[in-house]
Amino acid sequence: MGNITCIPERRNGSGLEVFLQQKWNDFLDVAGDDPANLHVWGMLACVYSQYWLIGGLYVFMDVRGWPRFLRKYKTQPGVNEPISWADLQRVSCRLKFERMSPYYTRIIFIIQILKTVLINQALLTVPMAYFGFHLAGKHTLPDVRALPPLTTIIHDLIICLVLWEATNYCTHRTLHHRLIYRFVHKRHHEFTAPIAWVASYVHPVEHIVSDTIPASVGPALLNCHLVTAVLWFSWLVHHSLITHSGYHLPLLKSPEAHDYHHLKFTQCYSPLGVMDWLFGTDDRFRQSKHAKRDRRLFGTKSARELVPDKD
Ligand SMILES: [Zn+2]
Ligand SMILES: [Zn+2]
Repeated sequence: MGNITCIPERRNGSGLEVFLQQKWNDFLDVAGDDPANLHVWGMLACVYSQYWLIGGLYVFMDVRGWPRFLRKYKTQPGVNEPISWADLQRVSCRLKFERMSPYYTRIIFIIQILKTVLINQALLTVPMAYFGFHLAGKHTLPDVRALPPLTTIIHDLIICLVLWEATNYCTHRTLHHRLIYRFVHKRHHEFTAPIAWVASYVHPVEHIVSDTIPASVGPALLNCHLVTAVLWFSWLVHHSLITHSGYHLPLLKSPEAHDYHHLKFTQCYSPLGVMDWLFGTDDRFRQSKHAKRDRRLFGTKSARELVPDKD
């Protein structure tokens, strides 16, 4: 006789919640419901696949200069158009390839991308996720089978957002301290006009202190359900790729503030801008054209068409 799995049947809640619970059960029947597999390997596969696929699309646009009609949405026109292989290699490694043929350069570039993944993602984030779950998470996290109410998911996401904004601002500003900057954060600022994959082009210390920990504070304190955590980390990946992409595309979040940070270094430290507003670290940004362009676009006109460099 096989094991009997206890599948929660949501009889309370809205029709949408009942529907989502049924679909979630169907998914887990196929994928399996082992919490360790889902929280560690499932989560990492989901988040990293988005990072490389969507980031790859942005980088492809930079490398090929295609499609041409999207060029007008560049935040710094003329820069990275097209991006050079030398710049791409800089994202992935610090070796020199001038004497190699373009074919081998591309192969080594891909290998070096994997190297970056191994160092910052696999060698740091994976052990943190694995030990974080087995030392603490598995004793406290909610049952993966039972979806929380939608109101709980939204509440948890808002708290994660607030904690991330506050903690990321503190760590990012600390990394800009003159005694620390050149040892850690300088690597990320090698790009005054970033491309999407620069989002993870950081020193390992920065990857832990300023990327992983601020992003994980909310889910850890709240003991978020797996689905909430996946939504949260997926949103973070998209946010980070967009703000480093160099494209201010219609309907998507504006990258102007973080693009300005890479351009000027000492303005706009916080990811959402609230902490910068509170501490006055966006004063010059607010007086610039970049601030006037810093809004979501709902038409086909680019931010530079709406707010030109010359009045
Ligand atoms: Zn950045
Ligand atoms: Zn910085």
